[in-house]
Amino acid sequence: MSIQFERITLIGIGLIGSSLAYDIRRLGLAKEIVVSTRSAATLKRAEELKLGDRYLATSAEAVENADLVIVSVPVGASESVAKEIAPHLKAGAIVTDVGSTKASVIQQMQPHMPPHVHFIPGHPLAGTEKSGPDAGFPGLFKGRWCIFTPLPDTDEDALARLRAFWEAVGSRVDVMDPAHHDKVLAIVSHLPHIIAYNIVGTAEDLETVTESEVIKYSASGFRDFTRLAASDPTMWRDICLHNKDAILEMLARFSEDLSSLQRAIRWGEGDKIFDLFSRTRDIRRSIVEAGQDTDAADFGRHALDAKQS
Ligand code: NAP
Repeated sequence: MSIQFERITLIGIGLIGSSLAYDIRRLGLAKEIVVSTRSAATLKRAEELKLGDRYLATSAEAVENADLVIVSVPVGASESVAKEIAPHLKAGAIVTDVGSTKASVIQQMQPHMPPHVHFIPGHPLAGTEKSGPDAGFPGLFKGRWCIFTPLPDTDEDALARLRAFWEAVGSRVDVMDPAHHDKVLAIVSHLPHIIAYNIVGTAEDLETVTESEVIKYSASGFRDFTRLAASDPTMWRDICLHNKDAILEMLARFSEDLSSLQRAIRWGEGDKIFDLFSRTRDIRRSIVEAGQDTDAADFGRHALDAKQS
């Protein structure tokens, strides 16, 4: 693979930032990788893992002369990062992010972006429940979607360069309106995580079942929820706060449907229950057919260690 950018700066070097660093290096996508993160401890760890060529404590210094800047921080930190880097960006630089919500990130970052840079918001649908620089690995983005939510009048050439970058790390790129992105992600990612956090919390609160029983017998379905519920609390707090409207809309729909299922169970409406469970089984089949998971036992978790997020 050939060099696409002279200097790529990674702001934030957790799971996503470090996975990008491995791929940029492995595929030779940049002459130089510059790393910056908020804490001295994480910066030191990034250096120990040899994730970059230079390590800088301030993002302002780190973005100097960068051709591509990738911001990989919790979505609630987007504005402060944008403010800090804006005056130091070179003309023609591409600035992108990987945040899980898009309308809010645009609202936070765009007003600070100088007119001489290309700001292209993005979201790779790839991740695991782990966080920090030790969680990253090469190939995380392979076969996964990356969604761009470009602003009107985005430069076509800059868009094509960013697309080529994500395709080089193995992603398939789609373009979407930010509000639509936030609705789609609310149902496919945010709601499942919220439900998982909630059900695991409920199990923890139960007085009639002991914690040791919950852990001992967890294989029967509960375990799959605990994997989602082990995701980073900061990241998921920020997602809840920054995709509030879409999440509340989906939760309202979910609660209505849950009440209807509850009623069907109460009244012994077997056909209704069977119909619903059959429809949902078809969705699972379509996901496997689309190559988004394997049909192996154990929800394909061992066969496919990267999950959609
Ligand atoms: P992570 O592993 O927790 O790493 C977060 C990084 O952001 C660290 O470098 C951390 O710095 C920095 N950071 C944390 N709080 C900050 C703040 N207030 N100001 C500035 N920097 C801060 O997170 P991640 O999983 O890579 O997620 C990064 C972004 O990718 C998030 O927006 C998330 O929504 C999105 N995303 C995540 C996944 C996933 O599955 N994890 C998938 C797709 C997209 P220090 O350690 O130095 O404090």
